Amino acid sequence: MTTKHSMEIQAARLLNTRRVWQGAWLFVPGALVVLFPGLISSLLRLETWIVVAAGALALLVGIYWSASGAKCPSCELNLLWHGMTHAKNADWFTWVMNARSCPRCDYPKSDRSEG
Ligand SMILES: [Zn+2]
Repeated sequence: MTTKHSMEIQAARLLNTRRVWQGAWLFVPGALVVLFPGLISSLLRLETWIVVAAGALALLVGIYWSASGAKCPSCELNLLWHGMTHAKNADWFTWVMNARSCPRCDYPKSDRSEG
């Protein structure tokens, strides 16, 4: 099997960082909407519950999207949850974004073909 897009995929990446950020762009505004529903609903002239429901949906979809981009391709360990529960300080997000190998199965170090 030959792949032409090796320029884009420079190295086997543990994290789908792009997907994690896409999720962040959804759940951050979602969280803001849920936190300040009154402000948003008056701005958009919508019922507060509609605004809260939409915000909560964006929040959930965003978190789900980010989490699915932060899965180990080998053992499916979710690095986002792992970082949240195992990082020693509040720096778990940095830890997740900088993770080079899976803490459980050591992917991609364990099977990496140099080239
Ligand atoms: Zn793994």
